[in-house]
Amino acid sequence: MTGAYIALGSNLGDARGHVLGALDALARLPGVRVLARSPLYLTPPWGVLEQPPFVNAVAHVDTVLAPQELLDALLVIERAAGRVRDGERWGPRTLDLDVLHMDGVEQADERLTLPHPRIHERAFVLLPLNDLAPGLELPGQGRVAELLAALDTAGLERLP
Ligand code: ATP
Ligand code: CA
Ligand code: CA
Repeated sequence: MTGAYIALGSNLGDARGHVLGALDALARLPGVRVLARSPLYLTPPWGVLEQPPFVNAVAHVDTVLAPQELLDALLVIERAAGRVRDGERWGPRTLDLDVLHMDGVEQADERLTLPHPRIHERAFVLLPLNDLAPGLELPGQGRVAELLAALDTAGLERLP
């Protein structure tokens, strides 16, 4: 079994429902066990600013899947939630599931880079990740709590 952290995000339609539905879908994946999930956060858009706010969360899982198998399973869940890839980077989406980190895995290829290379610049990822794993060391980036402390979290709101 390998521990992994997965980022969830949505800003189209019932964003909160998409994230909660994805957490259920994760729990039903063969070979994946959800150990914990962060609170949900409402966060300002990042990268492309003219779009609705996002609902974001992070899940901690244990899995027997290989990294690429886990990503493939996440892409199936995204498609089931109506995710359409229209080529616009960082645009609005019904569901985005990224593998943030897998224990002991460092790789960089076109289809899957681990740890996810942009965690350190994203408060919307680090805030929920810090709720689950403040001491986690992300190879090449640093420790979660310290990365979060360097970012501005004004405008991010924990949902009840
Ligand atoms: P970002 O990666 O900056 O968060 P994004 O999530 O909007 O951007 P997508 O269009 O969802 O980008 O994904 C593009 C491709 O990124 C995926 O098809 C996948 O092959 C690749 N990818 C590389 N590393 C990862 C990772 N750690 N998690 C998820 N996808 C990854
Ligand atoms: Ca993403
Ligand atoms: Ca993605």
